[in-house]
Formats: sequence, C-alpha cells, structure tokens
Amino acid sequence: MNLKDLKLIYQENRKEIKNRDEIVKELRDILGEKCVSTNNIDILAYTRDSSLISLNWTIEGKIAGLPEIITWPKDEEAIIKVLEIANREKIPIVPFAEGSGVVGGAIPIQGGIILDLKNLDEIIEINEKNLTVTTQTGVNGMNLERYLNAKGYTCGHIPQSLYTSSVGGWIAHKAAGQFSTKYGKIEDIVLGMRIILPEGDKITFEPIARAATGPQLDKYFIGGEGTLGIVTKATLKIWPYPEKRNLISYAFPTMKDSLEAVRETLRENVYPAVVRIYDADETARHFEHVEKAKDKVMTVFVCEGNQKLVDLEDEITRKMCLKNSGIDCGEDPVEHWFETRFKVTETSMFPPYRIVADTIEVSVMWDNAVDLYHNVVETVKQVKGNLLITAHVSHFYPNGVGFYFTFGGVPGKGMTEFDFYKSCWNATIKAVIHSGGSIAHHHGIGINRSHFMEEEWNKGYDVMKKFKNVLDPNNILNPGKIYEKTWKNQGGNE
Ligand SMILES: Cc1cc2nc3c(=O)[nH]c(=O)nc-3n(C[C@H](O)[C@H](O)[C@H](O)COP(=O)(O)OP(=O)(O)OC[C@H]3O[C@@H](n4cnc5c(N)ncnc54)[C@H](O)[C@@H]3O)c2cc1C
Repeated sequence: MNLKDLKLIYQENRKEIKNRDEIVKELRDILGEKCVSTNNIDILAYTRDSSLISLNWTIEGKIAGLPEIITWPKDEEAIIKVLEIANREKIPIVPFAEGSGVVGGAIPIQGGIILDLKNLDEIIEINEKNLTVTTQTGVNGMNLERYLNAKGYTCGHIPQSLYTSSVGGWIAHKAAGQFSTKYGKIEDIVLGMRIILPEGDKITFEPIARAATGPQLDKYFIGGEGTLGIVTKATLKIWPYPEKRNLISYAFPTMKDSLEAVRETLRENVYPAVVRIYDADETARHFEHVEKAKDKVMTVFVCEGNQKLVDLEDEITRKMCLKNSGIDCGEDPVEHWFETRFKVTETSMFPPYRIVADTIEVSVMWDNAVDLYHNVVETVKQVKGNLLITAHVSHFYPNGVGFYFTFGGVPGKGMTEFDFYKSCWNATIKAVIHSGGSIAHHHGIGINRSHFMEEEWNKGYDVMKKFKNVLDPNNILNPGKIYEKTWKNQGGNE
C-alpha cells in the first residue's frame, strides 16, 4: 500500500523532506537502527490523534496528517540531536506521547518527523516529606498512579484517559482530572520541569514551594502543546491516599438549582474531590435506572481525605443540596459512576453510522454559567444535521466552572463530515465567546481552536507569537498549531 494514495485531510499544509534517505541515515546513526522507522505501518499509526472525527476518516480510508519519519529517542541528548538536524534542514518535528489528545495537537499536519516520547518512562523518585513525585514525562498516567497508590499516595490527577495518556501530554494540554475540584488541574499540580527548547537548550525549573523571583516563566511552558519545547521531566504534587471516601448524589429540578448548590458549597471552603452535574439529557443517558432522577439533573459528589473533615464536608454539601431543592438519591449513582468512569465505548459506535460526534470543554465564571449552558445548547441545535447537544459540568472553582458539551449529528446534503464537524465546533465556540466564557478548559487548542485564539487573547496573542518566534525561529516545533489559523485557511463552512 502506498500511503500517499490515501486521501490526506491536511494535504495543503504538507511539506516533503527533500533528502529523506540521508536524514534517516543520520537519525539511525544517532538514535540506533530500531529507534527510527519509515515503515508504512508505523507511519500510519502517527497520522492522527484521538479526535473523534479521526474515526470517521479511518473508516473512509482517509488520514489526517502524513509524517515521513518516526523516531523513539531514549534520552534528552538524543532529542537535542534530532532538534539540531530539524533546525538545520527546516523539518517539522511533532512531539507525540500517547496520542489521546482530541484537538489535533499531535497531528503532523505539515508532515516531518514524529518524536515519540514513550521511552522517557522512568519514575525517578518520591519525596515523602515534600509530598512530590519526580518522573520522566513519557510515563503512562495509570502506571504512575498505580506506582503511587502502592506506596500509599495519589497524584489526584485522574483524567478519563488515565490509561492512555502521559504526564507530558497532560502538561502540554493543561489537562484536568475527574478529581480536580479538590486537587486542581495539572497547572496546579506541576511544581518543577525540565524542558528542551526548540534550538536544543535545556532549562530546568526546580520544584519550589513559592517564589518572588520575577514573572513565573515555568508556567508559560504549561500548555505549550509541543510548540515551545519538549518537557522531559516533571515534579508533581502528591497526596496521602484518602483515608475515607463519602459518596453523595442528589437530583435537582434544573441545572440552575444544581449549579447553585455546588457554588454555595464551595463558598463554604468545602471542596469535594469529584463533583459532576449532568443535564437532563445526560442524566437520562447515564442514570436511567435511578427513578428519583427521572427528568431531573443528576449531581454526584465524592468527598475524600481525612475522616473527620470528610464527614464535615458531607454535612455541608448535603445542606446546600437540600437548600436548592435537591432530592437525595443515595450512594448507588456514585458507585455506578465509579464503575463506568473509564468507559468510552459509545463514542466508537457512532462513526459506522456516519454519525459525527465530539466533545467540547469550556469554562465560565459563575455569573454567566447558566446563560452559557443555554446559549450553547440553543445555538448548536440550529446547525444543519445536528441531532444531539448535551452537557455535564465536571470541574468547579470558587469563581467559576468547566462545562463539557457533547454534540452529534449527520452531515446535511452536500456537506462533508468535516464541514459538519467544524460547523458544530465553530457554533459552540462562538456561543461561548458571546456568553463571556473561555474557549478551552482542559483539552487544549491544537488545530480545532487556533482560529479563535485572537478573540480569546486579543493583543496577548501577538505577544505569544513573538515569544514563539524567539524560541523557535525556524518554526520547527509542531507547526500549524496555536499560532496559525489552520481551519480558517483551509476552507470548510465557517
Ligand atoms: C476517551 C478520552 C478521555 C479523555 N479524558 C480527558 C480528561 O478527563 N481530562 C483531560 O484533560 N483530557 C482528557 N482527554 C484528552 C487527552 O487525554 C489529553 O489531552 C492528554 O493530556 C493528552 O496526553 P497524551 O499523552 O496522549 O498526549 P498526545 O495526544 O500524544 O499529545 C498531545 C499534545 O501534547 C504534545 N506533547 C506530548 N508530550 C509532550 C512533551 N513531553 N513535551 C511537549 N509536548 C508534548 C504533543 O505535541 C501534542 O501537541 C481524553 C481523551 C480521550 C480520548
């Protein structure tokens, strides 16, 4: 099979490596024979990330991006040498961890070399006094969490993709786990990092408790999405494994009631580790067996940690739920959530029927939360071919929330799947901007959102581009993302 015969979605962005055979030889001399591949089967594996539309494309024999060389460096020195070649030859480099990103971040839209970071998988040490773990960033999330649990700790960062994502990918996309209301997002958890910059310089940010040493440069690299450097090592916060867990669930008449109950709980300085509000459609989908939740808004809480504190949190959470018309549904819905929380099989059931679906997460301050929810639902319903738009809220802060929308539908006549997909995305993001929200909560920018970055950041976007140019003058690291409006330039029905 010649991969070039397959329909390439981002064809117009692609650049070929002129002297590929020489580059492959040079890379093999540096990395070793087995750590460089040009085999079709390997190339095919790196043509996409986990964006849901990629499944539709796969069924139709289409590929998103087409890299030319796959590499698996074993250490930082090898990464530096690959970057040296890429700068000399102006070849795009796409850092790739587990490919579970869902916004096109790891898609090699300009071709080039894939830098797979899975070999950087050593968990270096736990510091029990400082409550930290230091690890290489290619480590798989579940392997890290199991390692910590066995020693009596947790990182508190449990994304639904725990089994299929890496520490480096979390940092790159500013990820959030299911327990984020207590433990924070990854940017709250990272205390130190080592980064290899695009031109090969290494910088290390040592873990510090707090500092007043000028602007916090390290934070700028969290969310870099492989465009500003390769994160090779990180020190993360850890916590003693919780001594007690209380499971609470209430059903509310409306989203507004449920949001109010949670807001008032957080105002009391009470942070359940897990809080999840499902709108009525998602409640019907996930909790159809809970009679008391019929036509209502199911809300689940997990309070965990010190036994006495958990009991107090439980008491205050229940008080706020009752005050806002909540109906106690017991522990069973939360147990059901625990049993099904990593199950994502339903998403792969859609593409064979030509249904295009995806999820979009955004954030908003409390005062606009209810409006944002209704605005997005009403707007996306208007997209031609839309069959489904639902939401849950799964990340909470004293000042606002993170919403997670799911859409699905069938492209209308004359529309490609990609057109429909982009229309739903664009409609959602425009409604979010209109409602005063932020366009991404934890999946990142990638390709899907870069054309909205100017509206999100205003003048700040120019500063970001300048910063990128200084660090990466040859634009070799993950080009076509964050700073370039790939979807807009590429056509489709905007
Ligand atoms: C079923 C499912 C459930 C999910 N649930 C969640 C969830 O609960 N919470 C959440 O936040 N996300 C979730 N995601 C999204 C995804 O898991 C995250 O975006 C994750 O952080 C990506 O990690 P990865 O290791 O797979 O990175 P990849 O997808 O391989 O890469 C993502 C981006 O990071 C860059 N990158 C990777 N490693 C490095 C590094 N070491 N240095 C610099 N750049 C790097 C890549 O270039 C790319 O731009 C989910 C995805 C799926 C498919």
